[in-house]
Amino acid sequence: MSIVDLARPEIVAMKPYASARSEAPGEGILLNANESPWPLIEDSLAGDSVDTLNRYPEPQHGELVARLADLYGLPESHVLLTRGSDDGIDLLVRVFCRAGQDAILDTPPSFGMYRIAAQIQGAPIVEVPRQPDSLELDVEIILAALRGKSPPRIVFLTSPANPTGDVMSPEDLESILEAALGRAIVVVDEAYAEFTTAQGFSSWTRKHENLVVLRTLSKGFASAGLRCGAVLAQAELIGLLRRVIPPYPLATPVLSLALSLLEPGVLSRQRLMLREIRRNKERLLEKLADRPFVRRIWPGEANFVLIRVDDAASLLEHCKASGIVIRAFPSAPLLKNCVRITVGSRAEITRLALALDAYSAGRQQSPTEARHG
Ligand SMILES: *Cc1c(COP(=O)(O)O)cnc(C)c1O
Repeated sequence: MSIVDLARPEIVAMKPYASARSEAPGEGILLNANESPWPLIEDSLAGDSVDTLNRYPEPQHGELVARLADLYGLPESHVLLTRGSDDGIDLLVRVFCRAGQDAILDTPPSFGMYRIAAQIQGAPIVEVPRQPDSLELDVEIILAALRGKSPPRIVFLTSPANPTGDVMSPEDLESILEAALGRAIVVVDEAYAEFTTAQGFSSWTRKHENLVVLRTLSKGFASAGLRCGAVLAQAELIGLLRRVIPPYPLATPVLSLALSLLEPGVLSRQRLMLREIRRNKERLLEKLADRPFVRRIWPGEANFVLIRVDDAASLLEHCKASGIVIRAFPSAPLLKNCVRITVGSRAEITRLALALDAYSAGRQQSPTEARHG
């Protein structure tokens, strides 16, 4: 049994596209890819230029792969560069799910892209909803689904999760991986890993051939506009994804900027930024505490908090009128009256707190509220 047996047979059988750059990397007089001999503008967007714009970029940029492998503590063979995690999610579903046959397992409320990627591929979706009030993961039902007659092909988990912010327990992941062995790929999306002190699971990919960890520069590296992330898994699984990923997924300026982002000076700025976000999160939680209209708070481990309020629609409306945008989930059954608030700057939290003060005051004055006490 190999991980290849879980992939779509047509992906395994196909002969992957061989690009000019992958057939003949390296130096010399390059007359093999119909490129222009000169660029029209210099690639001087970042200090650390990697290539010139007239040439196709390296399909998997060696230096960036090496830096990310180092950052995540894995060999380079475990790293696939992607245009953010959304790209990784899409590749996984396309490689492992046959339309109308191989399901993904989703644990709503969760990140919306798992479902979208499955719908685009025509893959069925097995839902294992979280517990109604606590919003905790229902691990027993996930295990039962994996042990059942027709197990899902991919299990999507998120740690810290979005929008609930909780981290996966190592014991739970261990049992899920065991139940999934030979049956399913287990994906742990760690988009918010930098915000938590909990141990991530990337090192577990050394031991588990069916585990995939998704990392991104979008959140904890403050670079959502860059569209750069990585799929982490054993080489055999990465090899399957490489059959499907476009030949030149990352643009030269993106590669160049991603390398700049991993310079020691920027990494120490990142540590300061993460510390500031943690402090601001404490401030935000203080501003939310003891508000009569806040029913429940899930502080979580990421750069946002989830709250349940009396009336999410009116809170959203009120904040919008004050120029503040927060997120509600009107179509998620378990998130009725829940609102997710991202941890912003200190000034932004102060503005939000003022808007919440005005909202509380307005509700106290409202006649229906007064009548009901
Ligand atoms: C934001 C987010 C992503 C998106 O990552 P990109 O790298 O920007 O595509 C992935 N997963 C979760 C859970 C997220 O919240």
